[in-house]
Amino acid sequence: MSALPILCFHNVAVAPADARFKLLYVSPERFERQLWALRRMGLRGVSAGEGLARLRNGTSRGCVALTFDDGYADTLSVAAPLMKRYGCSATCYVVGSALGAYNRWDAELLGERKALMSREQLDQWLAAGMEIGSHSWTHPHLQQVPAQEAWDEIAESRVALGTMLGIPVEHFAYPYGHYTPQTVELVRRAGYSSAVTVVPGVARSSDDCLLLPRILVDGEHGLWRFLLRLAGAYRHRPDPTRGAA
Ligand SMILES: [Zn+2]
Repeated sequence: MSALPILCFHNVAVAPADARFKLLYVSPERFERQLWALRRMGLRGVSAGEGLARLRNGTSRGCVALTFDDGYADTLSVAAPLMKRYGCSATCYVVGSALGAYNRWDAELLGERKALMSREQLDQWLAAGMEIGSHSWTHPHLQQVPAQEAWDEIAESRVALGTMLGIPVEHFAYPYGHYTPQTVELVRRAGYSSAVTVVPGVARSSDDCLLLPRILVDGEHGLWRFLLRLAGAYRHRPDPTRGAA
């Protein structure tokens, strides 16, 4: 059975000294060491689209999907040049209503405003060979909003982003990683070909493509922990095709 680790990043930047959730930050130096380590392991960073296409046709071996949530400006200014240097591609899940603005959904909780990519910066991201997915229109808790609103967040963000950027938007990331059977059904009806959660694990070809697990990468733990997580992800979910050990 094919497998695909999907890594999940937020900010690639040095965490401010007073940041409340430093786990959301990976420093540029650490990020580069992670890319270096992937290359040393014979792994290549790919977009969700390429990785999942390969997962389906059995050629995902040696690939790791790199994904970034929220669409921070540092994803373009810091992470993208490093990924290009290492020959990697990636997917960024953006919040359609917040382009060029800041993280309105959690700025108060985090105590910091973080700049998000503008429409023009998304064009630069695409021009660098990267991919864009939707992370909803306003980053709500989808399970807490009325069904029509959830539909607009999921389906309308796909249409609006696609029209704005002139590309098909095929991939979705659940805000806060939260989902219910109802939200998954809306994502299915909206026509997305994949959706990622924050359930830890490695994606397998037998998975529901709208409930894909990811490996959260944080800045608090060193390279060794990063590699262990990558390796350990393969053990998180037993392979049902194998007999009990
Ligand atoms: Zn998010």
